[in-house]
Amino acid sequence: MCGHGGALSECKGAKVTQNSKLDVGHLKRQHLANFPTCLTAIHGFDENLNGTELLIKRDDLIDFGFGGNKVRGLEFILGDAKQKGADTLITGAGVLSNHVRATAAAAAYAGLGMVAVYWGEEPKKCEGNHLLSRILGAEMHFTGSSDRSSVDRHMEKVAEDLRRAGRHPYCIPRGGACALGVIGHILAVEEVAVQCRAFKTAPERVILAVGSGSTMAGWILGSQILGLDWQIEGYTVSRSVEEVRVQVHRLALEAAKILGLDLPVSNQNIVIHDGVIGEGYGIPSPEGQRAIVAVARRQGIFFDPTYTGKAFAGMMKDAARGRFSDLKSILFLHTGGAPSIFTSGIEIFH
Ligand SMILES: *Cc1c(COP(=O)(O)O)cnc(C)c1O
Repeated sequence: MCGHGGALSECKGAKVTQNSKLDVGHLKRQHLANFPTCLTAIHGFDENLNGTELLIKRDDLIDFGFGGNKVRGLEFILGDAKQKGADTLITGAGVLSNHVRATAAAAAYAGLGMVAVYWGEEPKKCEGNHLLSRILGAEMHFTGSSDRSSVDRHMEKVAEDLRRAGRHPYCIPRGGACALGVIGHILAVEEVAVQCRAFKTAPERVILAVGSGSTMAGWILGSQILGLDWQIEGYTVSRSVEEVRVQVHRLALEAAKILGLDLPVSNQNIVIHDGVIGEGYGIPSPEGQRAIVAVARRQGIFFDPTYTGKAFAGMMKDAARGRFSDLKSILFLHTGGAPSIFTSGIEIFH
């Protein structure tokens, strides 16, 4: 059991492998966490939702490395790295990255070295995910440039230096956006589908925050493979709608190829909404902060200021406009990000 009250809080969903149409047997997987995570119904938002059921998939509670969606992808990325004989993982992003922190935990767990490459300068105060990655023993490099792509060049340089020293580095793209990472999210779809069947509910929408696009690519591809007809809608928190759509499409096709599938993932199926970024990626928005406060006070569940708070706020705004009024059930994916609550200077609006 986890959560409180209501059958939906119970974590005893049927086995994930039951009736599986997904064959990932040829891929190496390093198990890091215990799945399934909880599926919980939340209440108290009827002024916006008008009776539509709201389910939250608690991937924030993934029980490894402080949780979050990145762990799902890392199980396959780490499996591949180990199979290829890697002794060091290299990845990068901004200094407060959830992805880098989860990768540092995976490297530590597997006994591999870990190099984190961050854009910009080293901040004076070490906090949040930066602090967690330090605790996990990651070696850190700062590119000194605010250009995010400076990370890619620097990662390549670190890899070259390590190779020259006789080591075996394994580079994971910035933010973890790669086809192998998508596979972990495809399995999440099956996990949720089994839970929904067990709980006798059938959400017509799946809503999530979109950053680099791996999670959404996995959800779209997984739903297509399993023949689930819920519609998946993403709220972009970083890039433009068009940029995200191209990236999600590319990642879904690449992941399908790894699985040996010839599924036509249509660009049209990729529904991305704009309007929640506010001043910028990683900068808390007033709406996002209000959503964090409202859900914490009504449900005891914490969203994060960079991803889930903004996406939830966008969903509620659209709900208030009546966009979901004909639906019985919506599923919101809680992708994690808790460490950012402590670093982003959230203000409490009463
Ligand atoms: C990375 C991240 C996302 C977005 O996932 P992508 O696969 O990059 O789109 C959402 N929420 C949290 C908390 C994240 O860390």
